[in-house]
Amino acid sequence: MKPMDAQTQLRALPSVEEILHAINPFVRNSISHELLTETIREEIDLLRKAILTNNPCDASVDTVVNKTLLSLERKNRFSLRPVINATGIIVHTNLGRSVLAEEAIEAVTKVARSYSTLEYNTEEMKRGSRHDHCESLICLLTGAEAAIAVNNNAAAVMMILSEFSADHEAIVSRGEQIEIGGSFRIPDIMEFSNAKMVEVGTTNKTHIRDYEKAINDNTAMLLKVHTSNYRLIGFTESVEAKQLKKLAKKANEERANRDADPLLVYEDLGSGMLLPLEGLTGYEEPTVAEALSQGCDLVSFSGDKLLGGPQAGIIVGSKILIERLKKNPLARALRLDKMTLAALEATLKLYLDPEKAAKQIPTFRMLTASAEETQKAAEILLSKVRASVPSALCKISIEPEVSRSGGGSLPMLDIPSWGVTIEPLKGSAQECASYLVKQRPIPIVARIKQEKIIFNARTLLSENEMDEIALALCEYFKTL
Ligand SMILES: *Cc1c(COP(=O)(O)O)cnc(C)c1O
Repeated sequence: MKPMDAQTQLRALPSVEEILHAINPFVRNSISHELLTETIREEIDLLRKAILTNNPCDASVDTVVNKTLLSLERKNRFSLRPVINATGIIVHTNLGRSVLAEEAIEAVTKVARSYSTLEYNTEEMKRGSRHDHCESLICLLTGAEAAIAVNNNAAAVMMILSEFSADHEAIVSRGEQIEIGGSFRIPDIMEFSNAKMVEVGTTNKTHIRDYEKAINDNTAMLLKVHTSNYRLIGFTESVEAKQLKKLAKKANEERANRDADPLLVYEDLGSGMLLPLEGLTGYEEPTVAEALSQGCDLVSFSGDKLLGGPQAGIIVGSKILIERLKKNPLARALRLDKMTLAALEATLKLYLDPEKAAKQIPTFRMLTASAEETQKAAEILLSKVRASVPSALCKISIEPEVSRSGGGSLPMLDIPSWGVTIEPLKGSAQECASYLVKQRPIPIVARIKQEKIIFNARTLLSENEMDEIALALCEYFKTL
């Protein structure tokens, strides 16, 4: 009798017209007719398929209307949209690294909304350079003589290598042959920029004499790379930039006599911390100024890691070298757009007042918040979740957690934090976490540990986000 049943069910399916009429006219008129009818047809097709494969389904008009509206909402969604980061990882590369300071956001909207001084010098009433907007600020904050900002730090590394060591040798320690992720590998970048890589030392130990032995007339650069996302521990040794500079100096005295290009020391610093993270303990990370004071000719770092600004790669160093970089064709290809420049300038301005930087720059604030502050935030979240989720459906508690800096910055550093833990008594932690990411207009990314979902309070930006988490959990448990 089954085929008959299916036939009856198929005949009972609502028509496109029926669904169309059942949709609120206000909604109906705000969407293109084609998109609406196409979506309804898709939903009815899904029901038809379910019937033919003997899957139980609810084909009432109300249900089809709801499914259609949900599907439309999904089709209308932006692909790039906000998420709530409850992972506790502050510079989360997959979630966009740094959240911009309000001052930076305001600066972006201002230049986006109008024409700007991007390449116009108002003093001289003639063409200006986009490189001028941030240079003096970067110099002021790092003690550098000159600076240039490009698309990101990977771009900065590539540009430096291709300008100064194309067809020449660049010496790098085997302990610093890193992969940052997303296929950014030091050896690949070197190959791409035509620099001939000369590896020295061993994985765990590199001595100054290793560099010394490798230097020859064709050596253009001693490259030092911050081992961002991993740390060598145990029987290890690496050479400080200060020692490399000393070595280069010796070589350069002899080169000067021959009128040959000097041997450069360049450090890829990775994170780019401008000020010490007051309140955070247990990390060893030089500020950019400290790194420069070791005597490097060039230092490069990211704009959106510890600095807390937009995606950018900042290069600091001597005027002669930066001028050469400005003239490199890659500077044009890798240049920053006006919105990024606006955000970068506004973020750097905040650093002029260390207290302001610590308060207004979200990455800085989250890195330096005390464990007690995150506990207070977790308690607020706890009360919101308790108020909206029936206690019979899950165990809710507050627990100590750890946060990570993330994005390859401050590796291995556990930052004490607090979080709210949900242990579903109905459904599973996995299902709940999947609902929170896939079914919510603002996805909520949390961490699963055993049968629990943990919402780390350190990376929550506002009470609005906490309200959203409480609401989402409430809605999830309604679906069970
Ligand atoms: C993160 C990092 C990079 C890449 O920087 P992006 O700004 O992500 O391009 C390069 N080198 C080091 C040492 C890093 O830590």
